[in-house]
Amino acid sequence: MADTVELPSRLAILPFKNKVLLPGAIIRIRCTSPTSVKLVEQELWQREEKGMIGILPVRDTAAASETPTVSDSVDQTSKVHGGSSDSNTKVQNDVHWHNRGVAARALHLSRGVEKPSGRVTYIVVLEGLCRFNVQELSTRGTYHTAKISSLEMTKTEMEQVEHDPDFIMLSRQFKATAMELISVLEQKQSTGGRTKVLLETVPVHKLADIFVASFEISFEEQLSMLDSVDAKVRLSKATELVDRHLQSIRVAEKITQKVEGQLSKSQKEFLLRQQMKAIKEELGDNDDEEDDLAALERKMQSAGMPQNTWKLAIREFRRLKKMQPQQPGYSSSRAYLELLSDLPWQKASKEHELYLRAAQERLDNDHYGLVKVKQRIIEYLAVRKLKPDARGPVLCFVGPPGVGKTSLASSIAAALDRKFVRISLGGVKDEADIRGHRRTYIGSMPGRLIDGLKKVAVCNPVMLLDEIDKTGSDVRGDPASALLEVLDPEQNKTFNDQAQPIPPPLLDRMEVIELPGYTPEEKLKIAMRHLIPRVLDQHGLSSEFLQIPKAMVQLVIQRYTREAGVRSLERNLAALARAAAVRVAEQEQVVPLSKGVEGLSTPLLENRLVDSAEVEMEVIPMGVNNRDISNTFRITSPLVVDETMVEKVLGPPKFDGRETAERVVTPGICVGLVWTTFGGEVQFVEASTMVGKGELHLTGQLGDVIKESAQIALTWVRARAADLKLTSAEGINLLEGRDIHIHFPAGAIPKDGPSAGVTLVTALVSLFSKRKVRSDTAMTGEMTLRGLVLPVGGIKDKILAAHRYGIKRVILPEKNLKDLVEVPPSVLANLEILLAKRMEDVLEQAFDSGCPWRQNSKL
Ligand code: ADP
Repeated sequence: MADTVELPSRLAILPFKNKVLLPGAIIRIRCTSPTSVKLVEQELWQREEKGMIGILPVRDTAAASETPTVSDSVDQTSKVHGGSSDSNTKVQNDVHWHNRGVAARALHLSRGVEKPSGRVTYIVVLEGLCRFNVQELSTRGTYHTAKISSLEMTKTEMEQVEHDPDFIMLSRQFKATAMELISVLEQKQSTGGRTKVLLETVPVHKLADIFVASFEISFEEQLSMLDSVDAKVRLSKATELVDRHLQSIRVAEKITQKVEGQLSKSQKEFLLRQQMKAIKEELGDNDDEEDDLAALERKMQSAGMPQNTWKLAIREFRRLKKMQPQQPGYSSSRAYLELLSDLPWQKASKEHELYLRAAQERLDNDHYGLVKVKQRIIEYLAVRKLKPDARGPVLCFVGPPGVGKTSLASSIAAALDRKFVRISLGGVKDEADIRGHRRTYIGSMPGRLIDGLKKVAVCNPVMLLDEIDKTGSDVRGDPASALLEVLDPEQNKTFNDQAQPIPPPLLDRMEVIELPGYTPEEKLKIAMRHLIPRVLDQHGLSSEFLQIPKAMVQLVIQRYTREAGVRSLERNLAALARAAAVRVAEQEQVVPLSKGVEGLSTPLLENRLVDSAEVEMEVIPMGVNNRDISNTFRITSPLVVDETMVEKVLGPPKFDGRETAERVVTPGICVGLVWTTFGGEVQFVEASTMVGKGELHLTGQLGDVIKESAQIALTWVRARAADLKLTSAEGINLLEGRDIHIHFPAGAIPKDGPSAGVTLVTALVSLFSKRKVRSDTAMTGEMTLRGLVLPVGGIKDKILAAHRYGIKRVILPEKNLKDLVEVPPSVLANLEILLAKRMEDVLEQAFDSGCPWRQNSKL
């Protein structure tokens, strides 16, 4: 603390609502309003040397919203030792500026950005320096300024006053009272030592302010302290206030002692018990059984259960009341009743009039494409609108992962203005998971559906039962049939996932809507319109900050994903966004933590810091939330993702479109197309031969149907061995002295189905003829023993898969021609589709030089 302070003739003014800053006191202010933020920015933050501002008390008796000009400028204020006590006197509605204030210097500044608004705020720690008079207050400009004159005593004035006998007497009196206060406080806490030092070192007229500032007095008293410009007046005022404070501490102590002495043992116990109860209530573990049961009963009553349930519940409740808490069954009975009263019997999301156009808009806004699917959903909703109580079927979305099944369901919920709950049934083996356990079972729990209802707390949510095909059955019952029971009388639930493994009776209750995979063009559009904005938002970034150009998205689609849906595309985009966020966080400017903190080392301040938590330094960390990052760094130019960044973040490309060429290198290998739960897939078939006894070995987790296809294929090839020029003459056994091994790579994935028939034959012909199959060609089709090629399912998905792998030619059964209408023209334009009626047609197309058999016949 400097002994004399030079004040400029003009100061920026920060109003201090219903509080006073006294010289020597330290306050911490949080500035959030535009005016105060501007003031701090221009007067303190941007300055190199220590800035000085004036703190002017303002009497504001009106509600903040009624006097925006002033209440705006001071936001949250806090004072060294608590605030003033008369801030809520509501006498008049206007604002008074005091004409005397205190110049203050910033000890510490910190800047923060509020989430999510991005508003800049400052926390300023100020030290009061000396009084001033306001000569002229100017309200022009963004914040107030004032022409001022200092009220600080000059050196000569000070010397004069120090020799004044009245002053000497008053200072002695003040010091004695202050000393007394310190010793009383010392008994309570051990902070006196340093304060005593203060008494010796700081000039007494300053001490007066410091002491008064450290305890709670009314605004009026604070003002009169501020107005005590004359040193003698100030000292006597301070002595009076310190003395009063001292007395009040003494009185409070006396009362406590008295009360303690008067309490009898039983009263003490009672008091302790009351306290314990209060603590327990506060902690939420009230075990006072009686109260507890009464509370439970109240809860049951207000749950609004239907009549028949209520009867059951109240009977159970009576039974519970008679039981001891330790008794077996007590807790499960209680848990049951708790659950019953927690369920949303009456609480429902408000039913709005269903506007189909709004629903359509919602679906269109959330999802690109999927025209047919959306149409089906709208039809479904239309039926519900016409006949709200119709037991409409349950919707069942079927399709590979990441095609938007879950998000469609949540859009339906949004369109209906209902809550949405997703219940995953993957891995559920126990029917109790669906139906719930028997109530008497120890540790019994409700089924997942009821649990879901309890969680969303409304009785009419849109429920998504995810992975319904992944339930299994074992000794503990069959979840699927439990589900059937649960779902049958219900409606407006949404179902999700693959059609195949859902038991037919269950499937029967559902309206299946298939969602096929997307083409790369569709994926690109989905990414640009939906995924990128969402990913940026999730990472607190915006396009002003990070841009992912179309070409880079295409690159990610081609080289880093090979899926029917867009889930891993979304994941990859998120990885890019994360990397960008990290980059931002790294180059984040370091916020100057303190400006001019040397004042902090004075014993006075140290003491205060220990005493009062309110003065402690607080630095709002920057970039706590990602959102802050973009808000803070909006000015910097956007980071544009390029190929180098893609490779750096996502690693070397995973797919390059040359995979088939690299794998189809020897005779015996052929590319097939299959349909899996992940959509269409490319499936390699590898055949190999070795010395043996004419056996056929099959590996790759194959199901019965595919094994039979292999048998059929081998039989067909053997029967035509001579025609195909695989043996020199008819009747010679192709398998003489050798075994055949056929393997379907990706050995861990179970495979089944008839559609590998043509691929198996082609692989075998290639193996025996020692000619390579064209690596740019993939095929699918079932084959009869006589060589007819039969149509298969999932054509669109399979063709999309071939396209993803960069395959150029696809051989399909002729009868699948009709399915090509479903395939997007942009994909078809890049593929040569070859239709086959018989196996010979397939072989003709599969080899560079055509079918060996045809060649033979040409000769
Ligand atoms: P599923 O439930 O079919 O496995 P999700 O619904 O979880 O897939 O979809 C994965 C992600 O892809 C979600 O973020 C979803 O919003 C997005 N998505 C999928 N299809 C589309 C689409 N047609 N338009 C916009 N976003 C889509």
